[in-house]
Amino acid sequence: MVYTSLQSPNNHNYDYELNVAHLYGNLLNTYGDNGNILMIKYVGEKLGAKMTFDIISVGDSFDNDHYDIVFFGGGQDYEQSIVAKDLPSKRSTIDQFIQDDKVILAICGGFQLLGQYYVQANGVRINGIGVMGHYTLNQENNRFIGDIKIHNDEFNETYYGFENHQGRTFLSDDEKPLGRVVYGNGNNEKDDSEGVHYKNVYGSYFHGPILSRNANLAYRLVTTALRNKYGKDLILPSYNDILSHEVPEEYGDVKSKAEFDK
Ligand code: GLN
Repeated sequence: MVYTSLQSPNNHNYDYELNVAHLYGNLLNTYGDNGNILMIKYVGEKLGAKMTFDIISVGDSFDNDHYDIVFFGGGQDYEQSIVAKDLPSKRSTIDQFIQDDKVILAICGGFQLLGQYYVQANGVRINGIGVMGHYTLNQENNRFIGDIKIHNDEFNETYYGFENHQGRTFLSDDEKPLGRVVYGNGNNEKDDSEGVHYKNVYGSYFHGPILSRNANLAYRLVTTALRNKYGKDLILPSYNDILSHEVPEEYGDVKSKAEFDK
C-alpha cells in the first residue's frame, strides 16, 4: 500500500507543490540514504514548495503522472533481489517518467537496477528493468569502499561522497557519467567514471548521503523538478540565496561555503 512517509507542515503558504516517490524506501535504505529525502524536503521548502513523500514498494503501482521526483536508494544484495522481482510491474511507468524528462535520483542498488542487469557478490545475475543502458558486473572478494570526490565538467561542479559497493558498473554510449573521479574508485576500475547522468536521471554510488554533502546537486534536482512542473522560465531564489552560508570564524577567512568548496 502506498503511504505518505513525510510531508511539509500545513501552517505555511506555499507557492508550489512537489510530490516525491520514494521507491522501495522500506527495503533499500542503506548508509543513511534517507538523508536524501530530508535534503530534498529542505531545499524544496526553501524554494517555496510544499513537499510530500510517498513510499512505493512491492505490489504498489507507480503513478508517473502524479510524481515530480523519484528517489531510489541503495541496498544489500538480498533486498535488491526482492526489489528486482517486483520492478518489472513498474517498468513502463518508470520508463515514461524518464522519457518525460522528470527527475530521478538513484543511489547504488537503485542505480544498478535501472540498468540492464546486476551480478551479485555470489555471482548470481539479476535483471534490472533496462530503462537505461548500463550494466553491472561483480568482483571477487572485494568492495570499493572509501571517500570519493568527482568533478562534473558540464556543470563545473565538484561532488563529495563515501562509496561502498561491490558492483562494477559500465555505462552505455548514450549515458554520461555524473562525474570524473578525482580520487576514489567510482563505477569501475577502468574508466574513471562515477555514476550516471541521462536526461534528468542522476545515478551515483555516493552515500553520505549525496544530497546533504552536495547541496549544489540538491538545488539542481529540485529546481529542475519545479521548472518541469511550473514552466521553464520560472524564477526561483538562487543557490546562494538559500543554501550558501557564512562559514564560522574559526575556519579562517573563508567567506562562504561556495568559496570553502573550491
Ligand atoms: N549491493 C550492491 C553492491 O554491493 C549495492 C550496494 C549499495 O547499495 N550500497 O554493489
